[in-house]
Amino acid sequence: MLYIESMENLFYYTDPYCREIDAKVTDVQDITEQQAHQLSVSLGKVPHDVCAVLFSTTIFYPEGGGQPGDRGTVTIGGHSFEIIDTHKKHNNVIHKGQEAGDERDSDGGLGIVPVHFVACSKNLIHAGDEAHLVLDWDHRYAFMQLHTAQHLLSGLMFSKLGIGTVSVHLGVDNLTVEVSEPEINESDMLLIEDAANDAVLSGLNVSCSFLSHSEAEALHMRRSIKVDTDVRVVRIADLDAIACGGMHVKCTSECRIVLYQGQEKIRGNIRTIWKAGTAAMDQIHADHDIVRRLCALQSARPEELFGISDALQKSLVQERAEKSRLSLMLAKSLIDARIAGKASSCAFVLDSEMDLKSFASAAEGYDNLALAAVKKDSGKILWLVVLKGRYEKIQFSEVRSRLLGPLGAKGGGRSPLFQGMAAECTDESIAEFLRGFEAMAGEA
Ligand SMILES: [Zn+2]
Repeated sequence: MLYIESMENLFYYTDPYCREIDAKVTDVQDITEQQAHQLSVSLGKVPHDVCAVLFSTTIFYPEGGGQPGDRGTVTIGGHSFEIIDTHKKHNNVIHKGQEAGDERDSDGGLGIVPVHFVACSKNLIHAGDEAHLVLDWDHRYAFMQLHTAQHLLSGLMFSKLGIGTVSVHLGVDNLTVEVSEPEINESDMLLIEDAANDAVLSGLNVSCSFLSHSEAEALHMRRSIKVDTDVRVVRIADLDAIACGGMHVKCTSECRIVLYQGQEKIRGNIRTIWKAGTAAMDQIHADHDIVRRLCALQSARPEELFGISDALQKSLVQERAEKSRLSLMLAKSLIDARIAGKASSCAFVLDSEMDLKSFASAAEGYDNLALAAVKKDSGKILWLVVLKGRYEKIQFSEVRSRLLGPLGAKGGGRSPLFQGMAAECTDESIAEFLRGFEAMAGEA
């Protein structure tokens, strides 16, 4: 097998900025069930026709160390096919980390065989074919920026705060660094953000080199080395050194900017969330656009927006409380008007301003009451029945099907309150429900 015991055919290591290359197809296979499973995990779905292709040399980085595999196109005999993902075989055994951030096979140990998943039938590609490989550079470069920013952040958290990195994940939207701490101060993370951006502005050199295991050990890096072979060590000037098989930019200035996004708890640790590179600049522009539009909407300056929003929220809470107080009063007076001078039963069809909840609350103030209310609400019918005092002898379960039949309604409840809903029905069927209810209450 090519590649084994050699890095020279892994062009993504020798020239990380190379975007296209000529190569020869060395092997074509149907994808295995395991590979199909891996693809469905990393891509969400697997196209109908996919084959696994090995090339004599490649610029495609195979997924590992929390960094996704490269994608792009391959052209063979004038036909172009999509390379949807790249994974790795290791000593002829699939050895891909199943967990995001699992770096066991990504310390740059030898024996990596990148497997390219090409979206076409296996019959269209043959061993010996001349091929031209082209990277999806935007995709790759975004992850080079993110990955380098992650080294910066992990290195700074370790050197400034003594905080170790447990796992990392590089995603399309952000990067996360899980740290071995149950709690983390926001102010500490802002300090790390500042230090990371200082390093970006300083344009520090990022270098990658293969060292023997003992040479690497002598560096006393922040994380112990997971393989016992030679390792690839990635250094950011004298700020950080770590064994890593991933892809990085050659200068920290290419990370452009590093933004702290917040933190969340995970397995008793804290996961810190960050943005970097082009994605971070895009986020700044998007945020700025939102602020600009909100300012125009409120005729306000950015620093006034929080006060305005807070005041609006408080007045909304007050308005809602006032509305429900008035709704309750209205429901009571409607019930009183309807039951005045006759048996304590009433039935209503509510308009859109009234809600069933007010009627259910209002019903609490009556000792004897049979109440039915129906409301049309965005394409469906909501119904409420209250049977209190002497009406409690009506067994709802016994009259349920006769009562709800005209509405085709579902629902139930416990004495004295029953409620539910129905699909849209006619005014006549609502009227029939209410007549049926009045008749039932009249017999009680
Ligand atoms: Zn790395």
